[in-house]
Amino acid sequence: AFGTIPSLIRLHAVERPDAVALAMDGASMTYRRLNREMDRVAAGLQRDGIRPGEAVAIVSATSIPYAVAFLGILRAGAAAAPLAPSSTPESLAAMIGDCGARIVFVDADNAAALEGQPIGARVIRLDDSAAPRWADWLPVQDTAPAPVEIGPDDPFNIIYSSGTTGTPKGIVQPHRMRWAHVARNAAAGFDTAVTMIATPLYSNTTLVSFFPTLAWGGTAVLMGKFDARAFLESAERWRATHAMLVPVQYSRIMADPEFDRFDLTSFRLKTCTSAPFSAALKADVVARWPGLLVEYYGMTEGGGTCALVCNQFPDKLHTVGRPVEGHDIRLIDDDGKEVPQGEMGEVVGRSPAMMSGYHGRKDATDEAAWFDAEGNRFIRHGDVGRFDADGFLTLLDRKKDLIISGGFNIYPSDLEAVLAQHPAVADCSVIGVPSEAWGETPVGFYVPRDATSAADILAATNARLGKTQRLSGLHPIDQLPRSAIGKVLKRELRDRLKETA
Ligand code: ATP
Ligand code: MG
Repeated sequence: AFGTIPSLIRLHAVERPDAVALAMDGASMTYRRLNREMDRVAAGLQRDGIRPGEAVAIVSATSIPYAVAFLGILRAGAAAAPLAPSSTPESLAAMIGDCGARIVFVDADNAAALEGQPIGARVIRLDDSAAPRWADWLPVQDTAPAPVEIGPDDPFNIIYSSGTTGTPKGIVQPHRMRWAHVARNAAAGFDTAVTMIATPLYSNTTLVSFFPTLAWGGTAVLMGKFDARAFLESAERWRATHAMLVPVQYSRIMADPEFDRFDLTSFRLKTCTSAPFSAALKADVVARWPGLLVEYYGMTEGGGTCALVCNQFPDKLHTVGRPVEGHDIRLIDDDGKEVPQGEMGEVVGRSPAMMSGYHGRKDATDEAAWFDAEGNRFIRHGDVGRFDADGFLTLLDRKKDLIISGGFNIYPSDLEAVLAQHPAVADCSVIGVPSEAWGETPVGFYVPRDATSAADILAATNARLGKTQRLSGLHPIDQLPRSAIGKVLKRELRDRLKETA
């Protein structure tokens, strides 16, 4: 039979009943308790007529009840649809409608966002501060759900794309895909892990370390709104062994003036994914934070994943590493032909860890597909990259962010790297804007560190850039717009320029 993550948690409840599965803010839950609570949630869903394969949505900040609800949905054989609470109420209603959820679990802070929205779903609170209360909805202790058969192609969860490049699409990840992530981590020591979960639970970035932790029987330490100092204190107190963080979190943690005061010798594995991670920052983490640092490149849709063990390859820190075992990655040109070794092209990938497709969007699913000569299906990643002679992949940029100016390709990441080195620049981003003379031209945004004028920074930066790369404008900004997972929202920067134009 096919193994599932909920069935492994049942096993841990027998084999390590008193081990802590989940912890947050001083509260914790053992595997014995977690297993029982999952049963109650699953039984409640079955009582309410939820059938295997159906979607059940969650709109909540990270919490232990959130994790329990997610896992209980899985035990009922249903698909969890964890939605980003930062979405607008309209967008939440649209996603709930899209996945067809008949039940939505929500925390106190997000309940109001759903009120007044035309959603055809029952809203159940994940807390007891107001009706319909969690305690009232949950069946009595020790209610067992009817067993369900789960197969590898059944949906595990539906994750809505962040919409950085368009309207959110529901990415359906099957059990097979999650299982592949768990299996891939067989040697990563998650059975004795204390994993810091510092990004929100609705993001795939978080789930790729959250589920291996629970599947192998480790402890997941959940954190709410990110704060570098709180992270360091908590990691030291828990003697944390594993953490998945995004680049902007590494940068804040490493910038903490007290960083070196914390005892982080318990760390064995830190991972990073989701956005460009500068070579200098990787080197700093390797030098000052004990344990391995592994960067992953991949997407929620799955396909091809690369990994870079930063400690092992100090001269490859500008790359995202090599394809993970069992992952086939190719680079293609605009005509869909594979490019010769050493040249750049769009990344396409194929592996055991692939989405089933975009929910109800056969058009978009087909559009994301690329087939090799043997007819194997790959997923287009939308990123432009290049393999070096040793097989390491360098990412140049997202295809959609590429700037074509006067016939030249400009990669915003190249310009961002130069701009970021200016001492007066704390953070920056470069976008392409329409230009009559050039078609498109690059414009920068930066967060000032001091009173140096934008004109001075622009002149100093342009002096270091190639003639065709020069920025035609530079704007100070208090803070770059970022998603909850730390990605720069370039769409918002473009809108901002349109407003002021
Ligand atoms: P949307 O699909 O809605 O536009 P998204 O692409 O940001 O959102 P994800 O699936 O979370 O959603 O992110 C995948 C993308 O993140 C990749 O295509 C790539 O652009 C970027 N990315 C992931 N890992 C890395 C990495 N290690 N370095 C640089 N960029 C990365
Ligand atoms: Mg994407």
